[in-house]
Parts: sequence; structure tokens; C-alpha cells
Amino acid sequence: MNNTDVIVVGAGIVGAACADALSERGLRVAVIEQDIAGGGATAAGMGHLVVMDDNAAELALSAYSVSLWNDLVGERPQRHEYSGCGTIWVAADEEEMDAARVKAQTLSAYGITCELLSPAALYAREPQLRAGLAGGLLVKGDGLVYPPKSARILLDRAMRRGATTKRAAVSAIEDHGVVLADGTRHQAQHIVLAAGSRSSALLPELPVQPKKGHIAITDRYPGFVRHQLVELGYIKSAHAASGDSVAFNLQPRPTGQVLIGSSRQFDTIDTAVEPAMLQRMLRHATTFTPALAQLNVLRCWTGLRAATPDGLPLIGPHPARRGLWLATGHEGLGITTSLATAQLLAGQMQGESTRIPINPYLPRRFHV
Ligand SMILES: Cc1cc2nc3c(=O)[nH]c(=O)nc-3n(C[C@H](O)[C@H](O)[C@H](O)COP(=O)(O)OP(=O)(O)OC[C@H]3O[C@@H](n4cnc5c(N)ncnc54)[C@H](O)[C@@H]3O)c2cc1C
Repeated sequence: MNNTDVIVVGAGIVGAACADALSERGLRVAVIEQDIAGGGATAAGMGHLVVMDDNAAELALSAYSVSLWNDLVGERPQRHEYSGCGTIWVAADEEEMDAARVKAQTLSAYGITCELLSPAALYAREPQLRAGLAGGLLVKGDGLVYPPKSARILLDRAMRRGATTKRAAVSAIEDHGVVLADGTRHQAQHIVLAAGSRSSALLPELPVQPKKGHIAITDRYPGFVRHQLVELGYIKSAHAASGDSVAFNLQPRPTGQVLIGSSRQFDTIDTAVEPAMLQRMLRHATTFTPALAQLNVLRCWTGLRAATPDGLPLIGPHPARRGLWLATGHEGLGITTSLATAQLLAGQMQGESTRIPINPYLPRRFHV
């Protein structure tokens, strides 16, 4: 790792995207990963590329990033197992349909193409949904990728520009340097911490805590659902700052399989699948698509999201440590927002003006 400008800690989708963006700017990058590139939350996630609008900063970041994904995926979508399936936000009742209307207004005002769906229009698109739903909102530009593959593609691109990778665990971060588990020290002008839910193990002052999620995948049932389906109630589940919750979230994989999510749990770093939580999640999903109960589930797993108190990632310089940059805390949106994160981080490091304002994501907002 001699002659390195930047050491990136972690080769999930965020670290890989940072390595890509930094090497593209001509910086000499070394990536340190303790495990397999893309094997952390990145492998556990659903890969939904989704514009989220809980607040203006989330909308700006996710919309920017989805446009970067479209550029990246470009002409070779199959490399990323990309599908431009769009998202349907499903409204169970009139109250949720009102929420869909508000969402439609917010997204349209931001230039995102979307379409309110009457019940008839909803069932024409997704016949497996249970009867009696109030309608929905179709966001056409959303899509999905297979995240570990995309992480590998980004990392390989960085390596073709000269970036190096090292398999090792970082045990401490110093000013302009890291200490590895074997005691060796490595220095660089910039250190980028992209260690996902393990970021606070290295820097306990970070306001990042793990939020566990369960996912299940079925056998191949091509066409069972055609869009990423998310209940509008998902937002309540995603926002909860404590307690366990589940939300209906189905994803049609390009393989014909169906990914079933999602759950949220705090106060645990035990990654074992919990049958009670899985059962709750699957039961809830079948209340939206009853025929799901007849499908064969092949595999279940969990992952740890890195949650911050305000739901926005930490992107920018550590306010108190020299040479240290943070790219973590992406919670349930890190696949989507990885590419914009990398651009904002690299832009700040190089003193460039950034496409969207960086203030909402700066770590100093938490006075760490
Ligand atoms: C169930 C679930 C569903 C999700 N669905 C979606 C979705 O549909 N769309 C979306 O946008 N996002 C989704 N997410 C969120 C997304 O997966 C994460 O936000 C994203 O993967 C975070 O990427 P990362 O690179 O920050 O972290 P990770 O992928 O966890 O990568 C961090 C890497 O750092 C390495 N590391 C950690 N500590 C050290 C150390 N000390 N030394 C060396 N290496 C270290 C780890 O081994 C790991 O590889 C989901 C997450 C979960 C759990």
C-alpha cells in the first residue's frame, strides 16, 4: 500500500463506489476489506433502486443516485442483473391513497415520472394483489440490480485504473492512517470509512446503529409480480426508531424468483434468521398477495442496515479527526444512494462543486 492517496475501509457497494469515483479522479486508491467484497449488507439487500421522498435531502440524494445508476447500467443492464421494473406503492385504504397523491405531487414537482393508479389500473398491472385495495402510485424510473455483482463491477473498474485491494481487518483508525488486526500500520492522505453497520465498532462516537432485516427468496415463478411492490405503510416501518416491524415489499428478480421483504429490528447484531420474525414478515406479505403462500421459499437470510438518527447517511469529513472521511449510515437505501455518495465524497475531497448541496449529509450535523 505504498504511494496510496486514499485508503477505503470496506468493499461493500459504498466502498466500491467510492473507490471507483476516487480512482476516476486520478487518485491512487487502496481498498481494505476483511471479508468478501460486497458480502455485507450489500449482499443481503434487495437491490431496489428507488427514489424516496421522506424529506428534501433524501429525495435529492436518491434521485441523483438513480440517474447515476441509469448511466452506469447503460447499455449492458444484464451485467448488473438490472431490471427497469419500476415501483408500485400500494395503497391499502383511502388514507394511504391520500399519501400516494402527496407523494405523486412531490415526485412530479421534482421531475420524477409517476402515475396514480385506480384500483382497476392497479389490478391490471398486478393481478396477484388481494381484492379491496384503494389503488397505488407507479414510479416508472425505479429499478433493481443484483447488488454484490454491481459492487464487484465498480471495484473491478477501480482496479483497472490501478486501485489495489487487501483482505484484512482494520482494528483502529488514526490520523491519516489505519492499523490492521495484525498490528501493521498504513498511512494515506485520506482514509474513507465505508464499513457499513460496523463503522461504529471502529469509531464509537458515530451515531450509527444496526437495524436487522430479514429477506426470503422463492423458487422461479416468472411474472408472479411485475413491479417492485411496496406498501405505503412501509414508510411507517422504515421510520420507526425502535421496536420490531415488518412491511410488505416484493421484488420480481430477473430470474423469475420473488424476493420477499422486509423486517426491521433494533438492538441486535445476531445475524441468525429468527423464525418468529420471518413468519410475521411472510404472513404480512400474504395479506397483500395471498397466492404467495403457495410459492416455494428457497432461502432466507438477514442483514444489518447502518441506521443514523435522522435516516440520512454520513458523507463527508469527520469533524474531529484528521484525514478521515465518512461514507456510512445508509440504512435501507444504500444500494440506491451509493453512487451519489461516492460523487459527493470525491467531490468534497477534491474541492469540486457538487451536483446537489452536501450540507444535509455532513457528519458534523451530529457534533460527533
Ligand atoms: C434486508 C435488507 C434489505 C435492503 N434492501 C435495500 C434495497 O432494496 N435498496 C437499497 O438501496 N438498499 C437496501 N438495503 C440497504 C443496503 O443494503 C445498505 O445500505 C448498503 O448495502 C450499505 O452498503 P455499505 O457498503 O455501506 O455496507 P456493507 O455492504 O455492509 O459493506 C461494508 C463492508 O465493510 C467491511 N468491513 C467492516 N468493518 C471492517 C473492518 N474493520 N475492516 C475491514 N473491512 C471491514 C465489511 O466486511 C463489509 O464488506 C437493504 C439492507 C438490508 C439489510
